[in-house]
Amino acid sequence: MKPRDRLRIAAQKSGRLSDAGRDLLARSGLRFRESRDRLFCYGETEPVDLLLVRDDDIPGLIAEGVCDLGIVGRNVLREQSLEYARRGERAPFSELRTLGFGRCRLSIAVPQDFLYTGPASLAGTRIATSYPALMADWLDRNGVKAEVVTLSGSVEIAPKLGKADVICDLVSTGATLAANQLREVASILDSEAVLAGPAEALQDERGELAAQLLRRLDGVLEVRDSKLVMLQVDRAELDQVVQLLPAANAPTVMAIEGNAQAVALQALCRGAFSWQQLEDIKRAGARGLMILPVEQMLA
Ligand code: ATP
Ligand code: MG
Repeated sequence: MKPRDRLRIAAQKSGRLSDAGRDLLARSGLRFRESRDRLFCYGETEPVDLLLVRDDDIPGLIAEGVCDLGIVGRNVLREQSLEYARRGERAPFSELRTLGFGRCRLSIAVPQDFLYTGPASLAGTRIATSYPALMADWLDRNGVKAEVVTLSGSVEIAPKLGKADVICDLVSTGATLAANQLREVASILDSEAVLAGPAEALQDERGELAAQLLRRLDGVLEVRDSKLVMLQVDRAELDQVVQLLPAANAPTVMAIEGNAQAVALQALCRGAFSWQQLEDIKRAGARGLMILPVEQMLA
């Protein structure tokens, strides 16, 4: 490979990961000039270009050194890593960061009348999937012998067509499974979009460019996952409430003018709050609970 002085990132051209992926790059300060064919986008703000491709091609592009980084589902990356592993080789790419979107799971689903009591129930069946290496690996780890039928799409209709007895496919809401009278019985991989890069550190100028991009990305991910929590609570219940907060650091506790009994609390927290968590915090004594998004942050 010739040395390059510009970094190249591969992302999905169109599909479930494209919008959120482009958004993340934009938030990291990268702007691209779209080319007419929309495959190669020249980076205008940094020496970082974007290649828009099919998601399945991303690990291979990194392996060949055509691209340096890629935004791809963990399912695709792990499948292709396992293909190397099963040949006794080390994959030339690795997962650098988790990106928090495109969440789904690779699950085994069976027809409604199939009796599933555990992995052993799959012995001797035909399993349709687009992820044969992940499937074979799971079967090996569970000591089950079954036939893996590789299909590139429409896996969910394989049982109806008589091509397979059960399937292993990506699931997010489960609506597709339900529409095909299939029942999810086991999840073999939790997936989300990840930033992939070469297993060996990048040489020449690209190493420094990649490190700078990762620093920015970490900042963007940290802000996105941070929330400012504000509330009031009686001093007697303060400890209980603080224990329920996924606080990043010690919360700020402030006196309330004219109310010696209560305090105001402000805390930077990680991750999203579920309604259940909010109700627990309220039940522990919090009043006027507010969760605010963080716009920018400089530690
Ligand atoms: P391409 O044309 O790029 O090959 P594709 O059809 O293979 O596209 P998409 O359906 O856009 O891919 O899915 C891309 C990724 O989105 C998946 O590999 C997976 O990581 C993630 N994803 C999240 N939820 C789901 C879901 N319910 N079904 C399929 N993929 C999902
Ligand atoms: Mg694909």
